[in-house]
Amino acid sequence: MRASNLRAVIGALAAVAAVASVAVPTGVANAAATIIINNLNGPGVGFNDPTPVAPVGGNTGTTLGEQRLIAFTYAANIWGANLTSSVPIVVNAQFTALSCNESGAVLGSAGATRVYSDWPGVPKSGTWYPYALANKLFGAEINSADPGPQIDSRFNVNLGTPGCLSASGWYYGLDSNEPANRIDFVAVLQHEMAHGLGFQTFTDGSTGEFFVGQPSIWDHYLLDATNNVLWKDATNAQRAASALSADKLVWTGANVNTGAISTLRIGVPGVGISGPASGPLNGATLLAGEASFGAVLTPVGVAADVMPVVTPTAGGPACGPLTPNDARAVKGRIALIDRGVCSFIVKVKNAQNAGAIGVLIADNVVDSPPPGLGGSDPTIVIPAVRITKADGDALKVQLRTRSRTASGVVARLAQFATQAGADALGRVKMFAPNPFQPGSSVSHFDRSAAPNLLMEPSINGDLTQAVSPPVDLTLPLFQDIGW
Ligand SMILES: [Zn+2]
Repeated sequence: MRASNLRAVIGALAAVAAVASVAVPTGVANAAATIIINNLNGPGVGFNDPTPVAPVGGNTGTTLGEQRLIAFTYAANIWGANLTSSVPIVVNAQFTALSCNESGAVLGSAGATRVYSDWPGVPKSGTWYPYALANKLFGAEINSADPGPQIDSRFNVNLGTPGCLSASGWYYGLDSNEPANRIDFVAVLQHEMAHGLGFQTFTDGSTGEFFVGQPSIWDHYLLDATNNVLWKDATNAQRAASALSADKLVWTGANVNTGAISTLRIGVPGVGISGPASGPLNGATLLAGEASFGAVLTPVGVAADVMPVVTPTAGGPACGPLTPNDARAVKGRIALIDRGVCSFIVKVKNAQNAGAIGVLIADNVVDSPPPGLGGSDPTIVIPAVRITKADGDALKVQLRTRSRTASGVVARLAQFATQAGADALGRVKMFAPNPFQPGSSVSHFDRSAAPNLLMEPSINGDLTQAVSPPVDLTLPLFQDIGW
C-alpha cells in the first residue's frame, strides 16, 4: 500500500477546540456515513464566534459560531445520508482569512488530507484514492497506525467586511432562501465537503504531472475529447493541453452521463459557421458567451454573412457611429467587432444603427470559454455574443477575400440543440478554461451546465441542496469513482 500526505497541516491538530458529532438518523435505508466536524477555530473565532444573532431560515443558533456549526452539521448530514461508509469521516473545519477583495472572494477551500493506493482488493491499482474513499473501499481505517482527519476545509472569515465583498456576506439559513446579496453557507459547505470526499484530481493540471508518479481515480474518467485519450493514459503535455481546452475535457463515467440526460437542459448558445469562403471553419460551432441585452438566441437563430468593422470610431472599434464603408458592409449582415475601449452595448448599438442584424464581439484577450456580454440597453433588439480571440482571429483570416458587402462566411447565432454542459456525445464537460485557474481548473463541472450544478467553480444563487439527478450530478460522479 502506498500512502501520501497532501498537506503539512496534519500536525496542527492540537488546535482542536471542540468536536461536534453528526450521527445519521438510523431510519436512512440505503446510504449512511458518519461525518464528524473537527472545529479548529480558537476561542471567540469562526465556529466559536460568540456574537449574538437572530435565528434565520430554520437555523436556531443564537450566536454566529453556533449558527455556523448548525449549518455545517446540516450540510454534513446531506452527504452522510447520500454516501455509505463504515468508517467515520472526520472533517477539519475553520473560518480563516482567504483571498478576497471588493470584486471577488474565495469562499472556501477543501480537499483530502491524504491519498492511498494499492491496498489489498483495491478497485484500480496504481491509482491514488482520497482518504475518505479509501477508507470506505477498504472497509476500515486504512491507516490504523496513524489515523487522521480525512478532509481539511477552510471558510472565508472576512466575507462581507470592508475590502471583502463588503456588500455581501454569509447566509446561515438552512432553507436555500438567501437574499440576493448573500452567499448560502450550506451550499458552500456542501461544495467544499464534496471536494474533500473526492471531487478533485491530485494530478497537477497546469503541468500535467501525476501526484507522486501515479494517476488519481479522477483521471480514469477524464477524457481529452480532441484525441480520445484518458488522463490516466496521457502524457504530461497532453494533460496540460486538455486542461486549457475550454470545452474538450469531458467526464466518461456512466453514472454522470446517464444522470445528465435527465438533468441538463437542451440548448446552448453558439455560432455555427458555414459558407463558401469559410474554409477550415466550415461546419464548426464556435463557443459563444451570451449577452445580457438584445434579442434572446433561438433554435433557428439569425444567420448572415460576417462582415468586420475595420475602422475605429470615437477612439475604438464601433465606439462611435460607423464609417460609411463599415456601415455599408454590416447592413443586413453579422458585424464582427473587436472588444475594447468602449462598452459592449455601445458597440452593438452602433452596429444596430448601421443595419447589422447580429453582432460577434471578438475578445481581445485569451479567455476561453468566452464569458458573456454584460450591460443593459432595452433599445438593442439584435442578438450579440462574445467569441474567443482565437475564433475571432480565425474568422478574420477567412474574411480577407471579402467584397465590400459580402464575405461568403456565414455565421448563425443560435441556441444549439445539445445539452448545456455536455458535448455532442452527451459527455459532461469539466472546467478547462484558458488561462488555467489554479484550484478551480479540472476539478469542477464546466460553468456552461444548466441548470447550475453544485460543483461548478463559482457559487450560483439557485442551488437547491439536491445532489442527484434530475437536479444535480455530484452524487453520480461519486458513484463513478467508487463511492
Ligand atoms: Zn470548488
